[in-house]
Amino acid sequence: MCATASAVVLPRQFLSGVEAWVSQIETTLERTVQCADQGMGHLEEQLTVGTQELQRQALERAAQAKADATPPRCPVCGRPLTRKQRDHQRTVATRFGAVKIRRTRGWCARCKQWRFPADTALGLGATGTASPSLQEAAALLVAQMPVTEAAAILQRLTGIRCSPSTLEREARRQGQRAEEQREDLNAVLQDWEQLVQQAQAARPSGPRQPFTIVIEIDAWNIRERDGWGQSAALREAGQSPSRWHWVYGATCFRLDQRGQTASGRTLISERGYVMTRGGVEALRELLWAEAVRRGLLQAERVLVVADGAVWIWNLVADRFADAHQLLDYYHASQHLWTVAQALHGEGTAQARAWVEPLLKQLRAGPATKVIRRLEELRLPTDVTAAETVARERQYFQTHRGRLDYANATAQGWPLGSGAMESSCRQYQCRFKRPGQFWTAAGDEALLALHDFWRNGRWQQLFPHVGCSNPALN
Ligand SMILES: [Zn+2]
Repeated sequence: MCATASAVVLPRQFLSGVEAWVSQIETTLERTVQCADQGMGHLEEQLTVGTQELQRQALERAAQAKADATPPRCPVCGRPLTRKQRDHQRTVATRFGAVKIRRTRGWCARCKQWRFPADTALGLGATGTASPSLQEAAALLVAQMPVTEAAAILQRLTGIRCSPSTLEREARRQGQRAEEQREDLNAVLQDWEQLVQQAQAARPSGPRQPFTIVIEIDAWNIRERDGWGQSAALREAGQSPSRWHWVYGATCFRLDQRGQTASGRTLISERGYVMTRGGVEALRELLWAEAVRRGLLQAERVLVVADGAVWIWNLVADRFADAHQLLDYYHASQHLWTVAQALHGEGTAQARAWVEPLLKQLRAGPATKVIRRLEELRLPTDVTAAETVARERQYFQTHRGRLDYANATAQGWPLGSGAMESSCRQYQCRFKRPGQFWTAAGDEALLALHDFWRNGRWQQLFPHVGCSNPALN
């Protein structure tokens, strides 16, 4: 939807600026070419000097032309604006420096609001000073690293000076926008026709072949600053601030998109991620929507692999009732080891001798043999050991239907939730830095940014992404 007529004419003054730059850069480059201890890095660095101001001028002119061409209509309801006032100036921080834009303000009688249609057309937020490109840079950097580091890297790579606090505020603003868009994206699936459409779009291209969707679910915890400044009050009241909170997450992918590298590492070419601080219910809704977009409704089979956490299997029963269920093999084997140690002591040869045939049996199936073995066990005389054995026996009875590793192996299913666990580790790298505290709202905003980035939907959040690459258009 691009207009063809151009109103952007760069003034003569700009062109003489370009000429001045050319003659200056020739001298500088020539000096570097002659200089024995300067290399290509020096050439690259020098070429950026002086270009920013030219780019800034071009941007300012083009942005002003776009503002001038924006019809004075309410960007929300489309109604023509009244009581129009021209020349409201706004300064925007851009990747080329500060740019000033004059826009028209008008009153929308329907919305009962003052509006700046040019701001919407330019992609500027109602608050904040960042241009879309800087909004993206803040979102991208702060989602991946601590703000002080982000500010330093931004300055090194682009020359943009931005204080850590400004950068963080902008990232949060973008994170909140990501949360809203994520909600809109998922709300669409409440509509039956839209749901059918999206489900069909998720079907793999090429000849129709049955496929399996794998879902892995897990949780990890995050350290947050609860009740800022209330620590002392809480302590006096004899309470301690609870700073560790659960982040619930899941990943889903098609089994046929899971392969191995030459070194035997598992590689999944395409997969969906969801992470939330909003509790199990939020995860359930986010996961279901993501799975639909990844082919849930078209899949011949759905497989859920996870550890033994009760909330996980409740969620599965609630939203993925027909799924095949598999208890992560590593977790199951750890529980057999616990029994072995309760019976024969930690690290003993007897414990190993007891557990190894059982592990083999668990792998080879059917699990009923292993469970029967546990049920026939004579409980140890030691009370603690007896309790442990009884508890673990109950664990295997509870997960009886999730232990068919022989079938899983035959089907080429993953026996563990390693894909999810490695995702959690990656998130933890960002969210568990020592000395860092988060708030629940701040966390959710950054997690939403991760969702868009990892799920390949960054362009939905920042539509300018890839517009300079013709291959993407
Ligand atoms: Zn309106």
